[in-house]
Amino acid sequence: MLKVRNIEAGYGKLRVLRRVSLHVAEGEIVTLIGANGAGKTTLLNTIAGLLPPRGGEIRLNGADITTATPQKIVRAGCSLVPEGRQVFAPLSVEENLILGAHVRRQQEGKRALTEIEHVYDLFPVLRERRTQLAGTLSGGEQQMLAIGRALMARPRLIMLDEPSTGLAPLVVKTIFGIISRLRDEGNTVLLVEQNARAALHIADRGYVIETGRIILQGPAEDLLANRDVQRAYLGHGPANE
Ligand code: ATP
Repeated sequence: MLKVRNIEAGYGKLRVLRRVSLHVAEGEIVTLIGANGAGKTTLLNTIAGLLPPRGGEIRLNGADITTATPQKIVRAGCSLVPEGRQVFAPLSVEENLILGAHVRRQQEGKRALTEIEHVYDLFPVLRERRTQLAGTLSGGEQQMLAIGRALMARPRLIMLDEPSTGLAPLVVKTIFGIISRLRDEGNTVLLVEQNARAALHIADRGYVIETGRIILQGPAEDLLANRDVQRAYLGHGPANE
């Protein structure tokens, strides 16, 4: 579904991504793990069309989206849930969701209503709070809203940038449960996480990025069992599993 080949990207003189290649097949959860500043957000933003790549190629379902606008990329079926959630604080929950559908063509308006019901089924708490201002939601509820808003565009590939940041352990569990459910419903997920252990537990495959380079990749269970990954990203040895 997604093929990233030899992507180079950066800011001004700063070279961040160095010939990064990865792929995500339909129906997979693929996670990208790495330390602060490794380039994870830069990669997602580049795929989403928010940062023009300086080299390489990005294909979505076979179409070249390397230089496409963010709007075109959403229309092509790829939505980003950005780091820090970024919901529209002064708008209600439902208004935030409706905005998520704005990239779709007008004749699809009715389907947007169906989609809202789907989002409310996935996140019943959002239905309860549909008229509440997004800025007054808890962190976990805002994360659910950010995911729900991305789903309103009916993406085939959903990219999540550190959805667990700043959330209590129980809420993190809920969010990861929802990501698994998204995959079970036929979505494809590219998940960027600092919480490597939780991410690898729900992922099919993973990539490890270090200072802008992919240094390791493989099935999630292999990465969980890898001693270098354990030392650098899982915090404990296998005895603590
Ligand atoms: P984190 O887990 O902390 O979010 P990350 O892996 O997502 O880290 P990026 O946010 O992609 O890392 O940052 C990679 C590098 O690019 C860092 O050195 C960062 O300081 C730099 N950087 C990120 N955004 C910008 C920007 N807008 N302008 C200049 N440099 C930036």
